[in-house]
Amino acid sequence: MHVFVRPTQKFLACQVCSGLTFARREIKMTTTGMTFIDLDWLNRSADGVICVRCGFVHTFMGDAHQWVDPAAVDPKDLPPDPLGPGSADERRTSD
Ligand SMILES: [Zn+2]
Repeated sequence: MHVFVRPTQKFLACQVCSGLTFARREIKMTTTGMTFIDLDWLNRSADGVICVRCGFVHTFMGDAHQWVDPAAVDPKDLPPDPLGPGSADERRTSD
């Protein structure tokens, strides 16, 4: 799956390897005492966005990101992926 980030209006690229495909995993955010200082939302589950290429886990809370089926994404809208399939060929032909 791809992940669209609303504040930047861009698809997420992995912070480590610039990968564009991610798996999803719920992450429990367990904190103590937050209820008393009105930070109860910190106790909700976070959305773990795991890069399928390098395994780096990006952790999101709230609703600023959105999972998108790759079939629904125009590849032109994705950030450049220096390690992705096709990008090496594209570089060769444009050089
Ligand atoms: Zn990665």
